Formats: sequence, C-alpha cells, structure tokens
Amino acid sequence: MKTNRRSFLAGLGAAAPLSGVPASFARADEVKKTPDYFANLGVKPFINAIGPYSSLGGAVMWPEVIEAMDYAIRHKICMTDLHDAVGKRIADLLGAESAAVTSGATGAIILGTAACMTMGDTERMEMLPDTRGMPNEVLILKSQRYLYDRSIRAPGANLVEVETESDIRAAVNERTTMMFYLQNRPADLKIKVTKYIGLAKEYGIPIFCDAATTVPPVANIQKTVEQGFDLICYSGGKGLRGPYSAGLLLGRADLVRCARMNGSPNHRAYGRSMKVAPEEYLGMMVAVEKSLQFDENADYERQMRTVQHMSDSLNQVPGLTTRIDTPVGEAVEPYVEVRWDTDRYAISVANLKQALRDGDPVIEVRALFLSDGQLHLTATMLKPGEAEIVIDRVIEILRNNTVT
Ligand SMILES: *Cc1c(COP(=O)(O)O)cnc(C)c1O
Repeated sequence: MKTNRRSFLAGLGAAAPLSGVPASFARADEVKKTPDYFANLGVKPFINAIGPYSSLGGAVMWPEVIEAMDYAIRHKICMTDLHDAVGKRIADLLGAESAAVTSGATGAIILGTAACMTMGDTERMEMLPDTRGMPNEVLILKSQRYLYDRSIRAPGANLVEVETESDIRAAVNERTTMMFYLQNRPADLKIKVTKYIGLAKEYGIPIFCDAATTVPPVANIQKTVEQGFDLICYSGGKGLRGPYSAGLLLGRADLVRCARMNGSPNHRAYGRSMKVAPEEYLGMMVAVEKSLQFDENADYERQMRTVQHMSDSLNQVPGLTTRIDTPVGEAVEPYVEVRWDTDRYAISVANLKQALRDGDPVIEVRALFLSDGQLHLTATMLKPGEAEIVIDRVIEILRNNTVT
C-alpha cells in the first residue's frame, strides 16, 4: 500500500512540467499559503463571548479531530464497516450498549423517533413520514416543549403533552411509540425523572432523552446512560468539540440498529438526506476520546479567571452591576451577567447586543431566551486578550448612550 502511494506520487512528479527536479523539491515549492477565504468573501469573523452556537459555527474542534478528519478524507472506506467500528468504540468509551453517529442531535431525534415507529419494518420505513396505521404518538412533558421538538414530529410522529403520572397513565395506548425527556430542564417538573423512566419501563415504551447541551463535564454522559434511558442524543459540535454537523445517538442496540436503517447510506431511507461523512464518523469518535482525556477542571479554572476579570472590570463602572454564575445541569460554563441602570444608560439589552454585533471587531454575546433576556458574557471560546476588547466595547457603547 505504502509502496503504491509512493510510486503514485513519483509518477505525478515525472509528469509535471518540473520533471528533472526531484519530486520532493517540486512539492515543497508548491506549498501555498491558505487564502483568507472569509475576508475575500467579505464575511466577518467575530470575538466569541457567547459560547458554541450552531448559528455561529459551533465549537472549535480539537486539533486531533481535524487530523483524524483529514486522514479519513484521504482514505476511502466502506461506510457501513466504518460506522459499525466507530459506533462500537464510542459505545465502549461511554458505557452505552450501542452508539451511532448522526447528523447532529436533531438527526438523532429524527432517526430515533423513526426507529421507535418502524422497528425495522420495511413497509413502515418506506411510508415515513406518513405514519398512518403505525404507532405514532410520543409523550412529552408540557413544560419540556422546546425549540427542537419539531424534530420529533419530522418523521411523522404526533406529540401528546402530559404533566403528571395520571396524565401518562391516561394517555398511553396502543399508538404510543416513545416517551421523550429533555435532560435537566426545567429544574422543577410535576413528575420526578425516576418516576417518568419507571412508567416507560412499566409500559415497555422506549424513552428518549435529549441531553445535547449537558457536556462538559463529559462524565455527565455516563450518568445519563446509567439513568436508564433507551436512547440518548448529543450534539457533536458543541461541548464535545467534534465535527459541526455530527451528533451521537446512544442506547439500546436494537433501537440504534433500527435508527440506522432509517438513515444514509440506505438509498430509500427517510433520513437519506441526513448524510454523515466518513470524516465525521471518525472525527466524532476522536472528539469523544479527546473529551474523556481533557483536563476539564483546568479549563473551568481558566474560564472562571476570565469571567472574574470581566466582572471586576465592569463592576467599577458607575451604574453597572455584575454577577457570576455557573449553570447547573447544563454544560458547566461560568458566565458573568451584566446589568445597568437604565436611568443612566438608555439602551436595551437587545440593542446593546446588536451594537456589539455591528461594531469592529464584531462581538457576539448571549442576550436571548437562554439568558432570560439579560446580557451574559462567557469565556468558553474567548482567546487570550479578547476579554479586554469585550470589556472596552461594552463600556464604550453604554457611555455613548449616557442619559444627559
Ligand atoms: C443544540 C441543541 C439541539 C440541536 O443540536 P444539533 O446538533 O444542532 O442538531 C438539540 N437539543 C438541544 C437541547 C440543544 O441545545
């Protein structure tokens, strides 16, 4: 194999106009600087004080993930063999019975729901998203309706909202195909999660858990696996720092197998368009390996120092108050919440977010529903020196809006 490769490259060298020049020199001369594609296109990079958001390109991948993806791009392999092997390794690493790499957490939700509705039945799989005549009702807790529950409905399932044990007992019937749970949200539910899982077991209904944003710490994955869910999904491009469009589906071997039947590379699969590339399979596996080796505590300390620095600096400005907090149950990423006296600075949180986005350099901060409409600055993705720029810009914008 190696010999073939070398003779192939030598052959290229001989055919090149530089023939006569040793092949190794010819290649060194060809080393080019990567063009600044984004600058050439006029799309602006930004300082990330918001964290890994899909709409902003997700997390920065581990260097080892990039290397693994580069490797996979250059070595073609049978997709099913690769997926089997990668799935087995990921499952072993995370203590799950089985694992598949999907097109994001939402791809895992779609294929997992499709698996429960079809259970390997070829006629049913061919019908999706037409689910007439098959079990197609998914129980969801009313307070857990969220942005991504559209993906449960995508393959043709209907959502049935429940709140209490008696609601669930009344709702379960022969069309019930899955129960859905959103990990740790909200903090208070009308039913305990152990009870909810217990009811799923009692009725023999598969229970799916979306735990997409509960990493780091990566140990949360094993904890969620041990809770007894039948299927669990994660985003690959958020806390795990894997490929942007990849995700994980973990759980029962029979269900993961049926989920894969509904996806690519199967030609007629409902999920054929949710393709996962070979480099994403491999990259996701290496992202899990790296996440398990990484010193999360040291990185938490780094983030905390940066957040503390931003908090201290902003607190010195008259009319500004700050508070540091770390989410519980979600990804453990400390942030500073910034509030200001609107009698002194006449600008709303939304307008300040927009002003930071419109500035130079562009700065992205959290000021949406996840921050309860407040201004949050995180250090997860801040590079050295960037916190100072963020602090200066926030102060400058507020000063420009001083009430006179
Ligand atoms: C981001 C997110 C998703 C979607 O993840 P993708 O990997 O982008 O498909 C699903 N659920 C939750 C809770 C999320 O935060």
